[in-house]
Amino acid sequence: MNNNNENKSTNKVISAAISIVIIIVVALFGKESVLDSLLAQGKEIYTSSKGESIQGLENLLIQTGKECISPININEDKLRVYYFDVGQADSILIVNKGQSMLIDAGNNGDGNLVVDNIKKIGIDNLTYVVGTHPHEDHIGGLDNVINSFDIGTFFMPRTMTTTKTYEDVVNAISNKNKKITVPKVGDKFNVGNAVCEIMSIEDNSKNLNACSIVIRMEYNGVSYLFTGDAEKENESARSWPETDVLKAGHHGSRTSSSQEFLNQVNPSIIVISCGKDNDYGHPHQETLNRYDKLNAKIYRTDEIGDVLIIQK
Ligand SMILES: [Zn+2]
Repeated sequence: MNNNNENKSTNKVISAAISIVIIIVVALFGKESVLDSLLAQGKEIYTSSKGESIQGLENLLIQTGKECISPININEDKLRVYYFDVGQADSILIVNKGQSMLIDAGNNGDGNLVVDNIKKIGIDNLTYVVGTHPHEDHIGGLDNVINSFDIGTFFMPRTMTTTKTYEDVVNAISNKNKKITVPKVGDKFNVGNAVCEIMSIEDNSKNLNACSIVIRMEYNGVSYLFTGDAEKENESARSWPETDVLKAGHHGSRTSSSQEFLNQVNPSIIVISCGKDNDYGHPHQETLNRYDKLNAKIYRTDEIGDVLIIQK
């Protein structure tokens, strides 16, 4: 190649590089200004804009982080399951066809956050509210919820405790002239078109975790298991149908998620609701080892914040 040709080809490379830089700059600034103007107009920009789908469960879209708590059309056909990030605690919201169910409301200090999340999503009444069992990290924020929304049916186990947290919940219920419904194993009810079944509940003042109301939900061929803090004794008390999405029992503690139970449920997705650097060491390593063998996709609220599953 002579000098002239070499210069020509160098010039071509330089001009191509300049063009690419210009395209990138235009794309970046262009995108930013569109985003800015949408935000300025208060437009919803996140819904369905991102997320991840799971092989074999193509009907599901999984979104994570604060942006998944945003306004929705609550009458939509889609099922939405929110696992709120409430630190070392549980709070789950299910929405379909204008109906909703809240399972637990985090610790006492999480009440306002849970109420704000529900309002932000656009819900002003809850068809079902479940206090899985009378521990603070599950019923702590329920009094705020009861005081803030109209509630249809309120489920809790029969076992009572003497804590102020528990009294606050019972007082809030009674101030609203509502009653506590104690469901029994096998009871079925619908949240929109999602069919729910009570799988476990006990009256057990010696072990409050064992009282946990466990609910299995099915919608369009995909199933979900909400376990509260149910323990191995509950897991071994019955058989379990295969279920696609498992809420890890008791924040991933070794006292739950027995191998026998996991073999039966065989989940594709596991959501662990726990707090960063929590005092209990949840989730325990031996539980994570058992999960590893399942080849399930794992979502931890301590690592990624809120988790939202959207199902067509
Ligand atoms: Zn708990």
